Amino acid sequence: MDAKILIVEDERDIVDLLRYNLQKAGFETDYVRNGADALHRAVERPPDLILLDLMLPEVDGLIVCRLLKNDPRTKNIPIVMVTAKVEERDRVAGLELGADDYITKPFSPREVVLRVSAVLRRLQAGKQTESTQQIETHGLTIDLDKHQVLTENGPIDLTATEFKLITLFARSPGRVFTRDILMDVIWGAEYYGIDRTVDTHVSRLRRKLGEFGKHIETVHGVGYRFKEVS
Ligand code: CA
Repeated sequence: MDAKILIVEDERDIVDLLRYNLQKAGFETDYVRNGADALHRAVERPPDLILLDLMLPEVDGLIVCRLLKNDPRTKNIPIVMVTAKVEERDRVAGLELGADDYITKPFSPREVVLRVSAVLRRLQAGKQTESTQQIETHGLTIDLDKHQVLTENGPIDLTATEFKLITLFARSPGRVFTRDILMDVIWGAEYYGIDRTVDTHVSRLRRKLGEFGKHIETVHGVGYRFKEVS
């Protein structure tokens, strides 16, 4: 694998640790020490993924994340945020701004390599399924043309909302979706409802999926995630 990872981090020790381990795992690495350089570098030498520390001098990591996701030249580059454990609000905000995953400090180098690989793999899988109009995962087949979910025991009868939910989850296994993101995606940004609406739809979907329902995992205090195929 020769994917290039751009590390955005101001602490030299952490940069060295990340570079050493990512390179050992076969990644190419590049690094910058602040947000302004990150924005320039991402355009000049686009990486395959950005590892973004949220605690940066001058421009805050969340702002960097928003600017990257709002720029057409960089919006498709996946971002994995690195945060301190106490910053749950930041984590949620980052995911809502379009970050693909997060790692909390202190992290093990192995965890970083696994998360980065998983996000890149997920993206690759997504590209392949788009052309076939079918998503196959965990023994489920989602037919995007026929709007049908099939198991080996036959089709599962879902409402339009439930179908949207399972498609969204299955397109990005491992990605955490906050309740707010799910509300926006499913019902549109103009919808005003209460949080429980999402939970109700997800639990109904889980029930209908039967044994497959267990693959939709609850991320406490944040939202939901579809389990990655191991
Ligand atoms: Ca830092």
